[in-house]
Amino acid sequence: MGTEEKKEYICEIGKRLYEREFVAANDGNISIKLAEDDFLVTPTGVSKGFMTPDMILRVDGAGEKLEENELQPSSETEMHLDIYDKLEDIGAVVHAHPPYATARAVEGRGLERKILPEAVISLGTVPVAEYGTPSTEEIPRQVEDYLEDNNAVLLENHGALSWGEDLKQAYFRMETLEFYARILKLIDYEHAGEISEENLARLRRIFQKE
Ligand SMILES: [Zn+2]
Repeated sequence: MGTEEKKEYICEIGKRLYEREFVAANDGNISIKLAEDDFLVTPTGVSKGFMTPDMILRVDGAGEKLEENELQPSSETEMHLDIYDKLEDIGAVVHAHPPYATARAVEGRGLERKILPEAVISLGTVPVAEYGTPSTEEIPRQVEDYLEDNNAVLLENHGALSWGEDLKQAYFRMETLEFYARILKLIDYEHAGEISEENLARLRRIFQKE
């Protein structure tokens, strides 16, 4: 996929986030790593459901524009760049406010029950990073501890963050995260069974082989 196609793909994923109500108004942001010190990031002040490829900004590792663009990069660009800095192998980051996941983030409760095979394989458990003021360096600082061992994290009183080797994987992790949070809301805790350790081990063996 070339750079222009990647800009189009960001717009496509933005539409999906908006249509699935994972973001309201101008919320959320998406980024892709093109190369070392070279990234695509969504603009600030634009709905993710209405982006066109010319709106996607190309920035360096300090968040400075590499291409002319009248729009400004997302106020959460620093959070994205910080994640790329810590996790060298990843290629994309998605930040959104999906309702069920955000509700858990507001409650300060992570997603820690092993109830769904897909969630276990794709996400493991999803912790909550302590509250930080959006668009400040507080969020990258709170998230740092969770990057290495997780594929996604809830941001307390805020929303959710996922990453992956490419945008498709980062987006799918956000979908799985929201589905997982939704099921947790729907179940009757008292009667909900968890997947046994034996079956979890079996599940991991099967997926690691692929
Ligand atoms: Zn947000």
